[in-house]
Amino acid sequence: MPSEALIRLVFFLSVAAVLAAGEALRPKLPPPAGARRRWLGNLGVSAVSVACTWLFPVLPVAAAVWAGGRGVGLLNVVVLPGALSFLLASAALDLAIYLQHRAMHALRPLWLLHRAHHADVFFDFTTAVRFHPLEIMLSTAYKLALVAALGPSPAAVLAFEIMLNCLPMFNHSNLRLPGRCDRVLRLLLVTPDMHRVHHSADMREANANFGFNFPWWDRLFGTYLARPAKGCEGMRIGLNILREARYSSLGGILAIPFVSSSGAAVRPHK
Ligand SMILES: [Zn+2]
Ligand SMILES: [Zn+2]
Repeated sequence: MPSEALIRLVFFLSVAAVLAAGEALRPKLPPPAGARRRWLGNLGVSAVSVACTWLFPVLPVAAAVWAGGRGVGLLNVVVLPGALSFLLASAALDLAIYLQHRAMHALRPLWLLHRAHHADVFFDFTTAVRFHPLEIMLSTAYKLALVAALGPSPAAVLAFEIMLNCLPMFNHSNLRLPGRCDRVLRLLLVTPDMHRVHHSADMREANANFGFNFPWWDRLFGTYLARPAKGCEGMRIGLNILREARYSSLGGILAIPFVSSSGAAVRPHK
C-alpha cells in the first residue's frame, strides 16, 4: 500500500494542477503584476513545513493505528457503527481545527506565527499552503493530541488529512464561481468568496470565517460574515503591515514571526 505521504502528494499535485488551470481560465480577480512570483515563497515555505513534520516520530494516521491497537481515545472505548464513528470523528476534528484557528488569532504569540499566512498580498491556491513551519509543527502536535484523545480510525484521519490539504486549496483559489453555485456550495463547504473575507486587511473582517473545510462552525459560533464591506473587488487583501515584496520570499516569510508591528525585527526586552 502506498505511504500516507505519497497519497497526500498525489492529491496535492492533482488539485493544484486543476486549480492553477481554473485560476488562469476563470480568475475571480485580475492578478497584480508579479503575482506568480509569490508562488516560489509560498510553495517554498510549504516544503520547509512538510520537512519539519518529519521531525515527529509519528504522524496522525500512524498515531491513530497506535491508538486503535491499544484502545486509547474516546471512539476506541465507546464503540459505534463504523460510518457513525467516521462522521463524528470528521466533524470533531474539523471543529478542533476551527478552534485552533480562533486561538491563532486570539493569542499574540500564536498570531505572530499565523501572520505569515495573512501577510500574502494576493489570494490564490498557493496561499493555502503558506504557513510558517513553527505553526505547522504546533498544529501537528495538536493533531497528535487530538487523535490520542478522540481515538478516530486511521481511515477517518487519512480522509481528514487529505480534505485538510485539498479543500483549503480550493477555498483560497482565485476562481470565479457563479453566484448561485457559491450560495449552494457554502451551505456545505467553505468557498473562495467566503474565505477571502478572512484575508481582508480590515481586522474586523479577518476575525471572521475561520472555518477551513465546513462552514457550520462559523455560523454556530457567530463568526460568519457573508461578504466584505467593500465587496470582493474593493477589499484589500493581506495585512496593513508586512506588505513589502520581501515578505513574499521564502526568507521573508520565515522571518515574519520575528518582525514587530512597526515592521522592524523584534528585539528582546532588556
Ligand atoms: Zn487566520
Ligand atoms: Zn486562509
